[in-house]
Amino acid sequence: MLTLLSLLRLTPQVLPTSLDPTKLRELNLRSVNIVNFEGTKLKQFNCVGVSSNQHTFYTTRIWFSGLTLPISRAKPSIANSKVLVRCSCPAYFFYCVAANAKMKVQIQGNQFRRYVRKTPPPPTGYPQRNPSLLPCLCKHLVFTTQYLTRAGLIKS
Ligand SMILES: [Zn+2]
Repeated sequence: MLTLLSLLRLTPQVLPTSLDPTKLRELNLRSVNIVNFEGTKLKQFNCVGVSSNQHTFYTTRIWFSGLTLPISRAKPSIANSKVLVRCSCPAYFFYCVAANAKMKVQIQGNQFRRYVRKTPPPPTGYPQRNPSLLPCLCKHLVFTTQYLTRAGLIKS
């Protein structure tokens, strides 16, 4: 299990555009749903955002575990709380799914569709995404992290 901070530190090696301030400024969240699992040390943030063209919605989910009780007052920490993450966007699918599943930082749920390569290998086709299988975040998960921090819902 990893923290959001460790994922943020690994992301530039895989998907540097996730941390591009220009791209992050184009994003916003339309809803933030907080689920406190009473009787457990688990808190979940389910967020829905829309892209700058206002046509593409994405859903991000971040689960924090090992929090202090009572769970309703627990404030997760980017640096210290263990996380699981997931996003509905194509970048998450192509860059993050395999690595995050391998490192057990991915929220289970509906299975992602099976990846089938449709283009020839380089130099003709695209290079392999995330060949070292480093766990990482898409820009939506980075933005969600920044948003929840600014809102005081999680600690930096
Ligand atoms: Zn995403």
